[in-house]
Amino acid sequence: MTIVHHPDTATLVSYAAGSLDEGFATLVAAHIATCDACRAALREIEDVGGAVLESVEASPMSPASLDRALSLLDDHADAPPARTKPRPKDTRPGVPGPLARLLECGLDDIVWKKVAPGVSKHVLPVSKTARSTLTLLRIAPGTKIPDHGHGGMELTLVLEGSYRDVFGRFGPGDIADLDEHAEHQPVVDSPEACICLVATEAPTRFKGFFSRLLQPIVGI
Ligand SMILES: [Zn+2]
Repeated sequence: MTIVHHPDTATLVSYAAGSLDEGFATLVAAHIATCDACRAALREIEDVGGAVLESVEASPMSPASLDRALSLLDDHADAPPARTKPRPKDTRPGVPGPLARLLECGLDDIVWKKVAPGVSKHVLPVSKTARSTLTLLRIAPGTKIPDHGHGGMELTLVLEGSYRDVFGRFGPGDIADLDEHAEHQPVVDSPEACICLVATEAPTRFKGFFSRLLQPIVGI
């Protein structure tokens, strides 16, 4: 897999700091699972973050704060071990680990919902408090998505196939990291369908009358 497009450094820094919202964080984790360059960049960011923390002078803790911290530790020691969702044992081709936790099946077995000619979607579960959505899109070869901008940040991770737009050609493993100013008109240029994971924080704004008609149908 040759990855050409990576998340912006600002996005990686937010990911390292744990401040990316759930949908975005899952998508970035899925990219990092397959991208050596971003894993290395992330290690550098974490090293710099650690050095900054070490350089901050520790302030003395009041006796009351110390008591409270110790009692919290005691409470934690008594608590039953946290139950974590078991990770799927099988590794499904084309499905990075962080995505496999949300997807019960392989890409070939997804039950798609047709939303427009050539476009199907499968919404992935995120928690109720999430401010972002996570959707898989399956777009048929040659399909052109109407010219549109975004109400906020949008991350797209290509899993299969490829598309082309004003920002370049995006194939498996590539991330398109778009902000609210970006406008594009992606066209699927692979002989097979393009399957991509899309995280958004606000409804997509389609331009033009027919495109606006499409928006409630596509629902991203
Ligand atoms: Zn990368």
